[in-house]
Amino acid sequence: MISVLSTRFRTTYFDYFSSQEGQDLNPNKTIMSSYSQRIVDPHVGYKKVLVTGGAGFIGSSVAEYLLERGDDVVIVDEMNDYYDVELKRANLGRLTERFPKCDRLSIYFGDICDESFMIKIFATENPKWVCHMAARAGVRPSIADPYVYIHSNIKGTTQLLELSHKFGVLNFVFASSSSVYGGSRSTFFSENESVDSPVSPYAASKKACELLAYTYHHLYGLNISALRFFTVYGPRGRPDMAPFKFIDRVSRGLEIQQFGDGLSSRDYTYISDIVDGIIRSIDRPHKYEIFNLGKGSGTSLKEFIDLVQKHVGTRAIISVLPNQPGDIPYTCADVTKAQEMLGYRAKVSFEEGIVKTVEWYNDERESKGLRICPETQANGIGRAASFTELTSLTSQN
Ligand code: NAD
Repeated sequence: MISVLSTRFRTTYFDYFSSQEGQDLNPNKTIMSSYSQRIVDPHVGYKKVLVTGGAGFIGSSVAEYLLERGDDVVIVDEMNDYYDVELKRANLGRLTERFPKCDRLSIYFGDICDESFMIKIFATENPKWVCHMAARAGVRPSIADPYVYIHSNIKGTTQLLELSHKFGVLNFVFASSSSVYGGSRSTFFSENESVDSPVSPYAASKKACELLAYTYHHLYGLNISALRFFTVYGPRGRPDMAPFKFIDRVSRGLEIQQFGDGLSSRDYTYISDIVDGIIRSIDRPHKYEIFNLGKGSGTSLKEFIDLVQKHVGTRAIISVLPNQPGDIPYTCADVTKAQEMLGYRAKVSFEEGIVKTVEWYNDERESKGLRICPETQANGIGRAASFTELTSLTSQN
């Protein structure tokens, strides 16, 4: 039974600007009024949500939130070893522990590109809401091995769009990325700007997903929101990403790599803020929208390293290396649209987020014996075999 909230949430122009003291603001104020006309009522009733990539960092956090608030969750994950599979098992273990003998959670292991496997899941579970987080993530590994990105990201997303349309899904929300802004000349990224110059296969795959999603909306009227996440970090974060790696390596007295002069800056978004933005998007079946989900302000690499040193309590050993191909020197989200249309507002400052992540790291390492070896996981080492590798292996046999 679907119930719809009768009152609309609307953030006024005044509320927005008066609540943003001290934060970077979008100078392009005229765009805002057109957003308010596209606001949709949030759906507040029970949902069964298919969460792809639900064993991963963001997917498992969304699944936990949905289960906590009383929704049913169907997880599909192939458990690839892009990073330590034990971490994914631990994410799923946490869910099954928190919701024991709960018939509201189903978990399927397999590739989202496997058509008969996915048809069975849609036919058995009949989810009307899709939160598609499964993908090969990471910019640098995608340059070394683009094919696996084309498979999981482009083919996988097409498969889900196709089945979502055939099985009458009410809302399809999926993870895009701030990487699509790679070729952009601006440093304050708005959804309105052209992102036709992606600088890595990963970015190109996410842009391709956005285009395919638009096509499915156009052809079949599927409701779709594409979410461009800006560097997500926090407890249970990905070990191939700088926030986890820096905290881990500085804690263990190991050298960290600083690419460039330290002035490059990123918009780092704490996991609870991203989950909040995803949930707001799931609840609001927009026709076709792209939303930036970030904090809305950047932190330089130097500031980042200083904060890690401060909260870990150890001086970092830094090796300075040249910038890497595919990396974007500055990322900062213009979150005006998400604020206007979703009521989204990031709440966790970068320092607060680092403090919470360090606390989690210390707790895991000291009391639960965190089993991480990021050295073997960065830059695609330790990932599953690519199609190229698989093909060459097969042809040898
Ligand atoms: P993650 O690697 O922790 O989670 C992705 C999950 O998808 C993994 O558990 C993996 O096993 C699964 N998966 C990958 N290919 C699959 C396939 N073909 N079939 C089934 N399962 C598959 O990554 P994350 O950080 O949680 O990212 C979630 C989503 O958000 C991804 O789409 C990613 O591209 C996007 N994103 C993440 C960030 C970030 O900072 N973490 C930033 C921008 C975008």
